Amino acid sequence: MTFGWWSGKTAPGAAPGATQNGPYIQVHLAPMAIQTHKPFLGPPKHVQLAFHSPTSARLLATRSPGLNQPAAAAMAETDADKLRFIEEVTADVDAVQKRVLAEILGRNADAEYLTTRCGLGGATDRGTFRAKVPMVTYEDLQPYILRIAHGDRSPILSGSDHPVSELLTSSGTSGGERKLIPIVEDEHDRHHRLHSLVGAVVNQSVPGLDKGSGLYFLFVKSETTPGGLPARTILTRIFTSDGFWKLPYNPQRGLTSPAAAVVCEDTFQSMYAQMLCGLCHRHAVLRVGAAFASGVLRAIRFFQRNWAQLAADIDAGTLTDRVTDPSVRQALAGVLRQRDPELARFVRSEGSKGDAAGIIARLWPNTKYVHAVATGSMAHYVPALNHYSGGLPIVSTAYFSSECSIGINLRPMCDPSEVSYTVMPNMAYFEFLPTDNDDATAASQLVELPRVEAGREYELVVTTYSGLCRYRVGDVLRVTGFHNAAPQFRFVRRRKALLSVESDKTDEVELQRAVERASAALLRPLGAAVADYTARTCAETVPGHYVVYWELQLPATAGAEGPSSADVVVDGEVLDRCCLEMEEALNSVYRQSRVADRSVGPLEIRVVRPGTFEELADHAVVRGASVGQYKVPRSVIAPQDIDLLDSRVVSNHFSPALPHWVPGQSAVPIIGQGREKC
Ligand code: AMP
Repeated sequence: MTFGWWSGKTAPGAAPGATQNGPYIQVHLAPMAIQTHKPFLGPPKHVQLAFHSPTSARLLATRSPGLNQPAAAAMAETDADKLRFIEEVTADVDAVQKRVLAEILGRNADAEYLTTRCGLGGATDRGTFRAKVPMVTYEDLQPYILRIAHGDRSPILSGSDHPVSELLTSSGTSGGERKLIPIVEDEHDRHHRLHSLVGAVVNQSVPGLDKGSGLYFLFVKSETTPGGLPARTILTRIFTSDGFWKLPYNPQRGLTSPAAAVVCEDTFQSMYAQMLCGLCHRHAVLRVGAAFASGVLRAIRFFQRNWAQLAADIDAGTLTDRVTDPSVRQALAGVLRQRDPELARFVRSEGSKGDAAGIIARLWPNTKYVHAVATGSMAHYVPALNHYSGGLPIVSTAYFSSECSIGINLRPMCDPSEVSYTVMPNMAYFEFLPTDNDDATAASQLVELPRVEAGREYELVVTTYSGLCRYRVGDVLRVTGFHNAAPQFRFVRRRKALLSVESDKTDEVELQRAVERASAALLRPLGAAVADYTARTCAETVPGHYVVYWELQLPATAGAEGPSSADVVVDGEVLDRCCLEMEEALNSVYRQSRVADRSVGPLEIRVVRPGTFEELADHAVVRGASVGQYKVPRSVIAPQDIDLLDSRVVSNHFSPALPHWVPGQSAVPIIGQGREKC
């Protein structure tokens, strides 16, 4: 997940020309430095930059004698400095990675994990690290993480000078529950650092962003572990941080959304307020975005559902009673200062149009690009985004995870299908597990960052400042090239996820469990069963939803009568209930997405006629699959397979209700959840 933004507001006390938005310092580029046609400045003679994370400042200081860290941090840094920094840090990746590893192992040397579990004995060199530290999954570390979550403050994963400051709730799941990722305080500096570099890269490609503002649909959710540590998403951490809202609200230059709208945990009120502000300041908006592509589509759907109320409020200069949060009401009072019948008419005319094609470009006519992650599992939303945006560039700027910041897209305006992320070697220690290797679980197979090969696929393994060592993130990446010595990666897929609409991720085992549960509960009593199944994420609806294709095995007498017999033996109502039963069996992130976030639509079962899966197998064999080894793929992606399945559908069914989801139900009970959503 990723994004950052920047404004043109001059910060008090900043160097001439410096601008600042929250924790990121942004400086107007001198005209000579804006070279949209030439991607990067050459390697620097010397580096005169500041406001790095302490780590990167230290890294730099080692190469730039005389630059002391506090002095560096006090200086304002220009975009040109940041671009030079990217050149420098990618020039000798091996040296940077060596230093990063030594620093991580040095500061965490007294952590229980490194001393007792790994027996590292204070060593900070690569050789000892490779020999003694095992490659692990979240599940391996879970006992340590649960102790932290329950309040054990001893140095468990990170060293005593760097205690865990909070747990980030990752969208990745373990045993059906969200993973909790321990984070130390200065990890946020690295995160901010990456965003500030992203800002410089985007500014170089899209000049003039400081002349307007950004309409970003941002949402937060705060939770607390039983041990009293904050547990929240990485975006919540950013949007609720002190620095983020440091500057006074200026919808003409910063973000159109006021802080109160973003930090309001009721999604309806938050979205309503953000949309209203975006409409009221529509001419100032130069970029429209959300964390993920699906978030932008949700916002458009929200507009389509709520335009009448939005127009009424704009017309009357008053705010609907549905927004009850006092601070949101107060913030909007300043925005809805007077009636605006002309804008209200425009909103009504746009909302009542049957076809929303190009609506983003019409509602926000000065938009230069749509900013959201549109790679990985978000790639299937690109056609819909193109439709609604009227062909605006879709910009995926960076690659992040809760565990650590990873890389930047150095060509932000490229087509989403061509996006590669350049790994920033100062963010963590990166290793890669080849996915085409039979011995894929052996740490001995791990390849260091500078040694990955173009064209090969690897799973990402990170060692972070927060104390995760040789930890499998679960992302599969393909090397597409190099920027200087830094490898560039295309995001290929999650290692285990089969289905994913937004933050939900469902793997093969979970899908199978869900099918079995529905079948056992509702089909077996009728003498029927699921003969075969496969699934896909459907992005044609907003929000997207899971489509599960079922071939039914019917009692002999009815089965002989052909496809329509399914309806006779298993009527539509039973199949509707099967959809819900499956949803009940899916993990809590899925159910939360359905119930609270409404980011996933009702699960759909499409019943296909008997023999369909045999045809699917025949097609695979024709395309080269071995008959003996053929396994029904539990997710279908190939358009020809989807076409085949869809052409054999005899009936389709949707979940008639929401599955159960109780806030706070998790492996580590989370307390203080956000309120129910729209
Ligand atoms: P989370 O753990 O919830 O912070 O989500 C991090 C995960 O989101 C990463 O491990 C990736 O699977 C995915 N992700 C983040 N950024 C991107 C990106 N730019 N493109 C594709 N997937 C991404």
